[in-house]
Amino acid sequence: MSLQKEISKRRTFGIISHPDAGKTTLTEKLLLFGGAIQEAGAVKSNKIKKGATSDFMEIERQRGISVATSVLAFNYKNKKINILDTPGHKDFAEDTFRTLTAVDSVIVVIDVAKGVEEQTEKLVEVCRMRNIPMIVFINKLDREGKDAFDLLDEVEQKLGLKVTPLSFPIGMGYDFKGIYNIWEKNINLFSGDSRKNIEETIAFDDAENPELENIIGESHADSLRENLELAYEVYPNFDRDAYLKGELQPVFFGSALNNFGVRELLDCFIDLAPSPRAKESDTRLVNPNEEAFSGFVFKIHANMDPKHRDRLAFIKIVSGTFERNKPYLHVRNNKKLKFSSPNAFFAEKKEIVDISYAGDIVGLHDTGNFKIGDTLTQGEIMRFKGIPSFSPEHFRYINNADPMKSKQLEKGIDQLMDEGVAQLFTLELNGRKIIGTVGALQYEVIQYRLEHEYGAKCTYENFPVYKACWVEADDPKNEEYSEFLRVKQKFLAKDKKGQLVFLADSHFSIDMTKQKYPSVKLHYVSEYK
Ligand code: GDP
Repeated sequence: MSLQKEISKRRTFGIISHPDAGKTTLTEKLLLFGGAIQEAGAVKSNKIKKGATSDFMEIERQRGISVATSVLAFNYKNKKINILDTPGHKDFAEDTFRTLTAVDSVIVVIDVAKGVEEQTEKLVEVCRMRNIPMIVFINKLDREGKDAFDLLDEVEQKLGLKVTPLSFPIGMGYDFKGIYNIWEKNINLFSGDSRKNIEETIAFDDAENPELENIIGESHADSLRENLELAYEVYPNFDRDAYLKGELQPVFFGSALNNFGVRELLDCFIDLAPSPRAKESDTRLVNPNEEAFSGFVFKIHANMDPKHRDRLAFIKIVSGTFERNKPYLHVRNNKKLKFSSPNAFFAEKKEIVDISYAGDIVGLHDTGNFKIGDTLTQGEIMRFKGIPSFSPEHFRYINNADPMKSKQLEKGIDQLMDEGVAQLFTLELNGRKIIGTVGALQYEVIQYRLEHEYGAKCTYENFPVYKACWVEADDPKNEEYSEFLRVKQKFLAKDKKGQLVFLADSHFSIDMTKQKYPSVKLHYVSEYK
């Protein structure tokens, strides 16, 4: 098959949600449709359960699961679907942000009763910044929840989206009758008895048809017609171009647990969702259909077995094909590397493959060559953009607790930071190291892993920082910048890439600094250019 055909078959996406909205359940139903799994309950949740904070075996077990579910791939109606797992736990939000740099679109799952929740807001904001096409799935319609119009309103207000419903619920909770599919123009009845089976479709192609009363009863028929009329009036017609630009988000309703509305979502998804998109590098826009291979590392997973120090680097293929045993250029190291056992992912297995295409993810065994964000090419010197670090929420000094093991500690910290577990800042004044994380859980993970994988011991000490701001000087030679460097010396550090960071202790201090040194720009994101 031609390169172009293979690539246009691919749909690489992520499912994002606040924990418990139904992401795992939906993923599982999608896999059922793809025939990738045979029964419900086969997909393990990679949720870090409450109380797991102090249970490191549990964390390790979860890490194992999260490798298995990092990429779930299957074929459906002649499309190759790649679902990239995005951890819902907020302490792992950075992981999710990075994974979102490798998806071509997303599905946002929202709980009908809880509406838009905190984690959804943050993740959608990241997608919005990147204009990633999004489809919204409102889940758990078999339960009592908010009114459909109120929810659509909430999605627009809180998530800053512009929506249009492509399906509409008939009743809700105990009175849930089914869904009118605006996209396919038919009705799908919910039957409480077939809960465990894949839904049986009873299609009905015209809401004006007087038969409707016989099927869902008079009052439901009336309210459905009213709702549809209002929906057509209030919301714009669906426009695929607007969706692809990230300017319009179609909304579906359903119940993942009951496998209801999931087929509609999937069928519509494969029609609408984009095949692999072009990606910007520092020199040019790279098109997926180009013959020459290029890709970038968006995730690194350390081996679970401390005796084998190798890691699995996850590469999103941006263009061309990735072939086994062919030499590729590691641009940052300016080194050619060959991979004899690249992994591709199928449902929950990984297998060695000879060839993968743009849009696919390959897992490469790595002994320490890769960092998050690294670019691989067939020889061209360029770097893909778009894996920024955000300011961490927590900051602590890290101290060596075993002076005999300082080399091990250094190596461990280095590798864990390359994996993107946390961010390292080195104070300009005295060279002390500060670890910044999104959640407090990471400190325990780091301490545990340093000890078990590197044989090093560490302790932490509080360092009161409000936010890390990446510093950009309008003119590095001017008087104002020199004064800034002198006055703020105690609060300046370098990140892992050697970029200058101002560790501000309060919001007030950021405001004052901006006022006093207007030519010094402070950014909350590392990649600001
Ligand atoms: P995740 O944290 O987003 O991955 O959520 P899960 O898929 O683990 O679902 C959280 C809980 O919601 C589980 O107990 C599911 O069984 C339940 N759930 C998921 N979908 C539905 C649904 O459509 N209806 C109902 N009633 N419960 C659901």
